[in-house]
Amino acid sequence: MPLDAALRDRILKAVSDGFDDQITFTQKLVQMPSLRGHEHPVQDFVFCELQARGFAMDRFNMDREAISAHEGGSKFSDDHSDAPIVVGIYRPREEKGRSLILQSHLDVVPEGLHEMWSDPPFSGKVEGDWMYGRGAADMKAGAAANIFALDALRRAGLQPAATVYVQSVVEEESTGNGALQTYLQGYSADAVLIPEPEDEMLVRANIGVLWFQVQVRGVPVHVREMGEGANAIDSVTRVMGALREMEADWNADKANHPYFEQEEHPINLNIGKIEGGDWASSVPSWCTIDCRVSIYPGRSAEDAACEIRERVAAFAQNDAFLSNNPPQVVFNGFYAEGYVLEPGSEAEAVLGRAHEAAIGAPLKSFMTAGYLDTRVYALYNKIPALCYGPVSRNIHGIDECVSLSSVQRITQAMALFIAEWCGVEPLEQ
Ligand code: ZN
Repeated sequence: MPLDAALRDRILKAVSDGFDDQITFTQKLVQMPSLRGHEHPVQDFVFCELQARGFAMDRFNMDREAISAHEGGSKFSDDHSDAPIVVGIYRPREEKGRSLILQSHLDVVPEGLHEMWSDPPFSGKVEGDWMYGRGAADMKAGAAANIFALDALRRAGLQPAATVYVQSVVEEESTGNGALQTYLQGYSADAVLIPEPEDEMLVRANIGVLWFQVQVRGVPVHVREMGEGANAIDSVTRVMGALREMEADWNADKANHPYFEQEEHPINLNIGKIEGGDWASSVPSWCTIDCRVSIYPGRSAEDAACEIRERVAAFAQNDAFLSNNPPQVVFNGFYAEGYVLEPGSEAEAVLGRAHEAAIGAPLKSFMTAGYLDTRVYALYNKIPALCYGPVSRNIHGIDECVSLSSVQRITQAMALFIAEWCGVEPLEQ
């Protein structure tokens, strides 16, 4: 049932009243450099914060065997994080409403060259409307919003009338295995909300993502006998050309994919890293590139992986050197399918009302071309999976920042969403 105006105003005000604390909390999260494999302190911090608020706590590790056996499991590599997943469980006095998962991820991507940042990358500096720092927008502001939306209800003398799980995961930026582990652990609910930085819009359609390496071996010789050797770095650049052709072919197919027809370039292949060779005067014997490519929803990672292998093999067959020295393709991270949030769910209607009340305009939806954990909930939990969050700039880039006024509006929308979706009961004394 839609919230009445007085209750709505009470909740909106409660979010505003707590917003200074929310900024400080967000800043603390940003100041913990939770790069891949180094998320233990920030997960411990969130564990303590949820525990102090009276949540029943669960903390568990990823089950490599179970993840690997699941169709949505991404590939493990030596870099895979072993940080725990943290779940705070709130239970009402009486289960009257619909249950909810609020998820966030606290892993962040590498900060890039520090000299390019205006301030140190983990400063959490606030300037005007913006909080800066790697992970400020993606997605520590959202992680704080999950907790502070619930705090706001309490400040308004209320608590949800249904179970709410606050799930803090890692590995979102590399495999999505953290979210998958919560599913394998048995956590589910009537809906999930993930406040990723989505410019105050709802994600309607989301691509899948694969990570892979192409590894090439060359023939190392002294550079004076270059003609007798084979340069692994040169060979890799030729393979890159073949991968770009594959990318062009996949983009040319966009008309067959609803929600993607209007996008100029829906499928992005990124050559994200290159390593190879040992010495300027030695023909390099090895070169490896790390790639990320997206796929349309409805296509399995397995199917796309087969095509990638075949494309590289076919190219190598017609290459004088590579035909005898075929490149290896190794999948070492994301192996994830995309999803579509079908319009018309009750969860979307409730979020639409909450958004309109907090932001004053109808909720828009869009296609986004980056991996999202919502896919686990859409594809495997099979529940309405809402990805919706604040305005940001430069995520994964330099001087990443999040708009604080937007974070406040989004938190207000989230608090209203929780109140209507879960229902409310008077605060337990
Ligand atoms: Zn994110």
